[in-house]
Amino acid sequence: HAKSLGRSSYSYYTQELDNAIRYQLKMKADLAYAIKHRQLSLAFQPIVSLAENKVTKFEALVRWQHGEQWISPAEFIPLAEQFSLIKPLGEFVLSEACRQLKKLKAKGYQDIVFNVNRSVNEIPLSANENDEWLLMIDMYGLSPADICFELTESALAPDKRNSEVLFNNLRAAGATIALDDFGTGYSSLAYIRRIPLDYIKIDRSFITDMSENPDDKILVSTIIAMTKSLGKKVVAEGVETIEQVEQLQQLGCDYIQGFYYSKPIAASDIPAFIDNFSMLNVPCVSAE
Ligand code: C2E
Ligand code: MG
Ligand code: MG
Ligand code: MG
Repeated sequence: HAKSLGRSSYSYYTQELDNAIRYQLKMKADLAYAIKHRQLSLAFQPIVSLAENKVTKFEALVRWQHGEQWISPAEFIPLAEQFSLIKPLGEFVLSEACRQLKKLKAKGYQDIVFNVNRSVNEIPLSANENDEWLLMIDMYGLSPADICFELTESALAPDKRNSEVLFNNLRAAGATIALDDFGTGYSSLAYIRRIPLDYIKIDRSFITDMSENPDDKILVSTIIAMTKSLGKKVVAEGVETIEQVEQLQQLGCDYIQGFYYSKPIAASDIPAFIDNFSMLNVPCVSAE
């Protein structure tokens, strides 16, 4: 009895494993194909300046339509990392962001800055490759100041590639750096001292519970105060309600990003968004 049970569960598990491997291989091949043929796309989420009451910054967020389905970057970025596809994916994202930005500037939208996300695994291993991102920006006739690179706390950890040299290099050229999802990683305040940063983005999880949870409000307030005393700008992520906007404004937050103002939109919708925002100054929510 035990023997037959053992055998059937063995074949059951090999079948499962087989399916899982098959699925992974298919996803790998499909993702590689999609990157190579520029079948991924970008959506852009406005980042609103509270002080100036205007929008010039947009975060580029990668999108993948796989067959009938839209797959979330939260799912396929880790796949790209696992399958060594993160470098070509990152190249696609930066080049596509530059291409779209160039078009918008030609239409007269000169002040736009695009925020581009970078995974820690995209940070070059050797200093020889440090100029690759800048070369790409230059290739599109843009200036480094037109791009802000968003990195998470793991990219700042010591001994992680040559991040310190890279960030100094990018900033010396005029690009800006944002620390993404602040508060969720293994942050050490020492990194913030060591790495030159322009923006700190407070993670959505703190903002979501701010209204109900007094501790989260204290944390948000403290992060804002700390960031500002360090001479950096602070962005609140995942802002969905007017109450959150008002609280953040009171706390002196510089920038707001979230569904309250807009979901990520197509590049072609950016001009209308900017025009309507400055004209009406009321929240405008577009479909993702
Ligand atoms: P992230 O950089 O923190 O981007 C913000 C995410 O929060 C986006 O999800 C955005 O759609 C979502 N979001 C913005 N406002 C709100 C809100 O008010 N409420 C809620 N519930 N969500 C909001 P998305 O586009 O699914 O991206 C998820 C993550 O995938 C990003 O987090 C980023 O870490 C990564 N990612 C996206 N694009 C790229 C890319 O081009 N390269 C790399 N390396 N990572 C990327
Ligand atoms: Mg980001
Ligand atoms: Mg973020
Ligand atoms: Mg996030």
